[in-house]
Amino acid sequence: MTDRKHKNQKQQHLRNQTGDIMNYQDFYQASLQQPAQFWDQQAQLIDWHKPYTEVLDHSHPPFARWFVGGETNLCHNAVDRWLSTQADQPALIAISTETGQEQVYSFADLHREVQRMAAIMQSLGVKQGDRVLIYMPMIAEAAFAMLACARIGAVHSVVFGGFAAKSLATRIDDAQPVLIVSADAGMRAGKAVPYKPLLDEAIAAASHQPAHVLLVDRGLEPMQLVAGRDVDYAASREQHLTAQVPVTWLESNAMSYVLYTSGTTGKPKGVQRDVGGYAVALAASMKHIFCGNPGEVYFATSDIGWVVGHSYIVYGPLIAGMATIMYEGTPIRPDAGIWWSIVARHRVSRMFSAPTAIRVLKKHPPELMKQHDLSSLKALYLAGEPLDETTSSWIATELGVPIIDNYWQTETGWPILSIARGVEHKETRLGSPGVPMYGYDVRIINESTGQECAANEKGVVAIRGPLPPGCMQTVFGDDARFVNTYWSQFAHEQLYSTFDWGIRDADGYFFILGRTDDVINVAGHRLGTREIEESVSSHAQISEVAVVGVEDKLKGQVAVAFAILKRPELYPGEAEKRALEAEVMAVVDKQLGAVARPARVHFVNSLPKTRSGKLLRRSIQAICEGRDAGDLTTIEDPSSLTQIQAALASPR
Ligand code: ATP
Ligand code: MG
Repeated sequence: MTDRKHKNQKQQHLRNQTGDIMNYQDFYQASLQQPAQFWDQQAQLIDWHKPYTEVLDHSHPPFARWFVGGETNLCHNAVDRWLSTQADQPALIAISTETGQEQVYSFADLHREVQRMAAIMQSLGVKQGDRVLIYMPMIAEAAFAMLACARIGAVHSVVFGGFAAKSLATRIDDAQPVLIVSADAGMRAGKAVPYKPLLDEAIAAASHQPAHVLLVDRGLEPMQLVAGRDVDYAASREQHLTAQVPVTWLESNAMSYVLYTSGTTGKPKGVQRDVGGYAVALAASMKHIFCGNPGEVYFATSDIGWVVGHSYIVYGPLIAGMATIMYEGTPIRPDAGIWWSIVARHRVSRMFSAPTAIRVLKKHPPELMKQHDLSSLKALYLAGEPLDETTSSWIATELGVPIIDNYWQTETGWPILSIARGVEHKETRLGSPGVPMYGYDVRIINESTGQECAANEKGVVAIRGPLPPGCMQTVFGDDARFVNTYWSQFAHEQLYSTFDWGIRDADGYFFILGRTDDVINVAGHRLGTREIEESVSSHAQISEVAVVGVEDKLKGQVAVAFAILKRPELYPGEAEKRALEAEVMAVVDKQLGAVARPARVHFVNSLPKTRSGKLLRRSIQAICEGRDAGDLTTIEDPSSLTQIQAALASPR
């Protein structure tokens, strides 16, 4: 690494051309007004093998090509680049509270392991542009496999390890991998979760057949190897211990990976991403939003099967020269202090999690958190779903660090809305994920007129093209679906629709009000489920709630709430529950008006969520309306639906 780059990483303030310190407003405006100049500067944060000839080619909108003609490599920037300055410092810290194992890989170790994995892949016939499907638990080998693909120009498609055979089979058929990398089993809450039998079932169900399956045997579950197809990782690794696999330099717009969206609102979409734009976007976000410096430790509690895992477990922190923690386990085993003990032990400086996990922690005594030395922690970033004010204030008080909400999507790869504290220490605002990040021209659009909304007027959150570097290139194998899905809602403009509702307040802070298909129409009033949920959960006894719109002959639709109680033991009988229901309704009446009042508030112990922790409102709604619950391939716990059914069946 050159001195100049070192300086870039450490630089305290950003300066404009005349040397003045830039505030965020100037920085943001520069990104929209001179995108080529702006991103050319950001591109200096990574190593290029060959310089690009054009920063942006937007000649075929909505497709955007960034850093045209440039050659780089994600694995080089994440691993090799750091060998000259910090080879012996931690790069990957793999912690499993399930198996009790913990292993620290330095940048040099990681470099060796990735080359071994890359050599194995090559020996199994994987070539540049081939897809490799990764169906793995949260173990170091999963990161080796992703980085090995990046190294040799193969395209990875990580499928969340918790998915069942059916979901896996559709993704095999969509991605058409030549190789699948998997393991005997994962572990969750103390139990081995077998992967291999599910994988065999999925391959049997799929029409596409991978040539090989590479299996990491953790010794958790017996495995039946299919002769000629299945390969044992440990044995192959022995044969490639001294492997040297040079980086394959890739044109910036080559494909780096395919990742499917969570499927909260329907059939998952295969998000396809590039190489150069993604590397630059991540490097820039690590500097301006996450404020990470080389040598520090980053801990994202997500899973490699989600976009947060791609951007902020594997690539982002490593590209910034940070060590990254890969965690297999739950937030509450052996107790709810486990994450904080990891923060203390590894001196974690930046942490990234999801509101759903914090709500889980909130049910446990805060002392478990406070008994650890959290002085290394500078900020906690939360994303993935709306961050309610109660949860946000609670964790801020307990941790004593800033809580930075950030709003984005699998499609964008990095935050659309947040607070760029690396540029300027702008204040956060409770309930708001913040302001548009540089490069995103975010607009609130009136759904029926297609015109921009005034301040505080609710509309669809849209982004004016071109999308900045790092965002999806297209839907894998389906350009038409990309254009039709995302760019056709407001046909007269080059506007990308996020399918989320939002408002912008007079100061420019945005608020996300739920998904556009999560709207309730009560007697002609359009209400976002999120607003009603926020109101219900402001009642002191409610820990979590889902609100859906249910067909009603008189009003068109009515709101129905399913709430989880903080202390269910206080409400043992029907009479107590009815009294509480009335209290909750009164809260909504007062805050939003009678029109938003839920027709019923049911009390349940759990809510149906996707494996990524997002509420499956469409399934709850379907059950309430007596329909089939729909595509449930990504559901966390199917029994939560039984509870909804039982609640509906119980007498009034
Ligand atoms: P699908 O698109 O397949 O239905 P999904 O939208 O749940 O699935 P993701 O890309 O994982 O898949 O999730 C992105 C969505 O999550 C956003 O569009 C938004 O609805 C929600 N979201 C993410 N972060 C936040 C946040 N900070 N505040 C509010 N909502 C958020
Ligand atoms: Mg989505």
